[in-house]
Amino acid sequence: MFKPEIQFEQLKVLYGWQKIGVTSGLVLACIFVYVLSAVIAPALLLAWFVSLCLVAALRLLDGRAYARDNTDESAQRWLLRFRLGVTATALIWGASAWLLFPENLIEYQVFLGFALAGLGISVAVSYAVDLYSAMVFFTLIIVPFMLRMFINLEEFAVMISISMVWFLSFVFVGMRRANVYIRDNMLLRLNANRRTQVLQNSEVRFRQMFERPLTPMLLIDPMAGQVVEANAAASRFYGYSMQQMRNQEMAEIELDCHSSSINDDLEHRIAVHRLSDGQRRSVELYISALNVDGRELQFAIIHDITDRMRMEAEVHQLAYYDPLTALANRTLFYTNLQFVFEQVKHQLDHACLMCIDLDQFNHINDTQGHDVGNKVIIEAAVRLRRCVGETASLGRLGGDEFVVLLSGLDEDTELAQQQAATLAEKIRATLALPYYLGSAIPLHTDSMMTQYCSASIGVTFIHASAGSVSDLLKCADVAMHQAKKAGRNTVRFFDQSMQISLDTHARLNVELRNALKHKQFVLHYQVQVDSQHRPIGAEALVRWQHPQRGMQSPDSFIPHAEQTGLIVSLGLWVLREACTQLQKWQQHALTRDLVLAVNVSAKQFHQTDFIEQVQKILADTRINTARLKLELTESAVLGNIEDTISKMEQLRGMGIHFSMDDFGTGYSSLQYLKRLPFDQVKIDRSFIRDLATDANDAAIVQAVIAMTQALNIEVIAEGVETAAQRDFLMAKGCHLFQGYLFSKPVPIEQFDKSLQETLQQRLFH
Ligand code: C2E
Ligand code: MG
Ligand code: MG
Repeated sequence: MFKPEIQFEQLKVLYGWQKIGVTSGLVLACIFVYVLSAVIAPALLLAWFVSLCLVAALRLLDGRAYARDNTDESAQRWLLRFRLGVTATALIWGASAWLLFPENLIEYQVFLGFALAGLGISVAVSYAVDLYSAMVFFTLIIVPFMLRMFINLEEFAVMISISMVWFLSFVFVGMRRANVYIRDNMLLRLNANRRTQVLQNSEVRFRQMFERPLTPMLLIDPMAGQVVEANAAASRFYGYSMQQMRNQEMAEIELDCHSSSINDDLEHRIAVHRLSDGQRRSVELYISALNVDGRELQFAIIHDITDRMRMEAEVHQLAYYDPLTALANRTLFYTNLQFVFEQVKHQLDHACLMCIDLDQFNHINDTQGHDVGNKVIIEAAVRLRRCVGETASLGRLGGDEFVVLLSGLDEDTELAQQQAATLAEKIRATLALPYYLGSAIPLHTDSMMTQYCSASIGVTFIHASAGSVSDLLKCADVAMHQAKKAGRNTVRFFDQSMQISLDTHARLNVELRNALKHKQFVLHYQVQVDSQHRPIGAEALVRWQHPQRGMQSPDSFIPHAEQTGLIVSLGLWVLREACTQLQKWQQHALTRDLVLAVNVSAKQFHQTDFIEQVQKILADTRINTARLKLELTESAVLGNIEDTISKMEQLRGMGIHFSMDDFGTGYSSLQYLKRLPFDQVKIDRSFIRDLATDANDAAIVQAVIAMTQALNIEVIAEGVETAAQRDFLMAKGCHLFQGYLFSKPVPIEQFDKSLQETLQQRLFH
C-alpha cells in the first residue's frame, strides 16, 4: 500500500536536501584538499577533487531534471538515479581513505577519519528516509577507512578501526530506527491525506446530492424538532427562503403523520405538511439517521403524494362505491357480507341481511325521466342511512335495489328477529314517505315535485349453514319478491317455503338450459282471423315438452328464462323456428299470405346485436319479411325509448311489422304509442274476458279501439272466447281476433290441417 506515494515522498526529501548536501560536501572537500595538500601529492588530490566535482555537477543536474518531472509513476526511476549519484559520491569519498591516506601521520589520519565519519553521519542522517542511500553512503565512506586503519597494524590505528566497527553498527541501528520512524510518519500522513481527500470528496458528493435534485430534502434535528438544513427544492416546495427553512420548527410543518420502519436504518412516514401559504399537502418521507459532527440527525427525502393520494382515493371510490349514492357497491358489499358471514360462524350474535327494492321505480324513471329517478334513489339512500345508522353496512347493488347488513343482533333468536323486524318496518315506513324533489326547502311545494315510492323488503338471517354469501343474497331476494307479491310496501322474512321455491328456481335453471340443448321446445300456432273468420295469420307460442312433467305453458318458464337471461337464446330459437315455418307457408298459394306474429321479450330486444341476429335469420330463411310481425310488450319498449325507436325503424326498413302486445296492462299511454312505429295494437285478453260484466273494461276496450282509429293503427283483440265478445268488438270497430272461439294454440300439423278444412268449407259454401 502507498508504495509509489512513499517513494514520491522519499524523493521529495532526498532531492530537496541534495543541493545543500552536495554543496556542503564540496565545501568539506575543499577543506579536505587544503589540509591534505601538505602531505599528499597535488596531482592525486586534484584528480580526486575533480572527480568529486564532476559527480557533484551531475547530481545537481539530475536534481534539476527531477524538479521538472516528478510524478508518482516515475518515482522508481528517480530513486534509482538518486541512489546511483549517492553511490558514486560515496565511492569517491571512500576512495580518499586509500588514495589520500597519509602514511604514518597519525594526526592527518585522525583528521581524515574525523572528516569521513562526520560526513558519513551527517549524510546518513539526512538520507535516513531511504535506508539504502543512508547505509550505502555511510558504509562506502567508513569501511575503506576502517580497513585502511586496520591493515596499519599499529595498536592505536587498530583500536580506532575496532571502535569504528562498533560505531558503524550503532549508526546502522540508529539509521534503521530513524528510517522506520520516518516511513511510519509518512504512512500516517499519507493515510491522513487520503482520508481527508475521501472526506472532502464525499462532502462534495453529498452537497451535490443534497442541493442539485428537484426532490425536497431536509436535515432534521429530531431532539430539537427543527430543520437543520434544507435543499433548494425543499425551499421551493415549502415556500420559505433557505434562511427561513433553517431552524424551522418541524411542528409548524408536520401536522399529522404515520410512521413505519422499513429496516433498522430507514423509516417510512406518510404525513400532511403545511406550506408557507397554509396549503396542506400529503407527503411521503424516507428518513435515515445521520451522524453529523457527533449530532444524531435525520436525513429526510420528501415526495409530494397529494395528487397520487387523490387519484388513489378516486379509484378506490370508483371501485368500491356507487357513484350516485356513495353507498358501497356490489363488490364492497360482498366483501362486507363475506366478513360478517365468517364472523357469524364463530360467534353467538345474530346478523341479518335485507334486500330492499323500490316499488314500481321503473314507472317513475320512465314517466318522469332519469333525473327524477336519480333524485328518488339519492333520497332513498339518505333515508336508509338515517334509519340504519353509521355502523350498519349499506349498499346499492344497482338500479333501485339496496341492501342492508345488520350485525350484532341479540344472541336470542326471537329477540334478534324482533330487532330486525323493527328496523325493517322503520325502513319501510321511512321509504314510503312522500319524496319532495326539486327544492332545497322542505315542504316548499311551489317549486317542488312530490313523488310517492314505497319499498318491498326481504329479510334473511345470516346462518352459518348457508352455503355462500350469494345464497344469502338469493334468500333475501326471494323474500323481497314475496313482499312484492304480497302487494308491495311490505316486509317479508325468508322462510322454508321460500327455500323450496329457491330450490325449484335453481332446478328450473338447470333444466331450462338442458331443454334448449336437447330441443325440448316446440312452437304452437294460434290462428288470427278477420270479421268473416278468415284466417289472416297466427301467433307463434312456445311450449316446453318436459320429459317428466309433460307439456309446459310459457307462463311457467318464460318469467324464469327472462330472469336468468336464457330468454335471449330461447327467443332466437323461436324466431328462427317461426321464420322456417313462414318459409314453408310461402311455398303454397293457400298459406302464402299468412302473417306470423312472434313474441320478443324486452331483454332479447335490447341486446346490442339483436338487429344482426334477426338479419342473420332472415338471410338464412329468405322469407318475405312483410309476413313477419314482432310482438313487443310495453316493458320492452319503455326504458330506453330512443334505442327502441331506432331498432324498430331499422327492422321496419327490412319490411318487418310490429304489434304492441298486452296493450292496456302496463302504463300504456298515447304518448308512447304516437312516437313508436307500431302497425298494430293487441288488446290484452284480461279486458276481453270481462267485457260483458265489467263496464270499466268495456269502456277501456272502446277507448283503445277509438285511439287506434285516430292514430290509424290496426287493432286486434286476443283472448276472444265467446261470440258475444266478438260481436261487441266488431260493433266498436275491432275486426281482427285471436282466441279460443276460433282455435287454441295448436301444433303445426293440426294448424295446417284445420286451415285446409276451413278453406275447403269456405270453397263449398
Ligand atoms: P301473449 O303473447 O299475450 O300470448 C297470448 C296468450 O293468450 C297465449 O298464452 C294464448 O294461449 C292465450 N290465449 C289465446 N286465446 C285465448 C283465449 O281465448 N282465452 C284465454 N284464456 N287465453 C287465450 P300462452 O301461450 O300461455 O302464452 C303466455 C305468454 O307467454 C304470452 O302471452 C307471451 O307473453 C309469452 N310467450 C309465449 N311464447 C313466447 C315466445 O316465444 N317468446 C316470448 N318472449 N314470450 C312468449
Ligand atoms: Mg303475444
Ligand atoms: Mg298478449
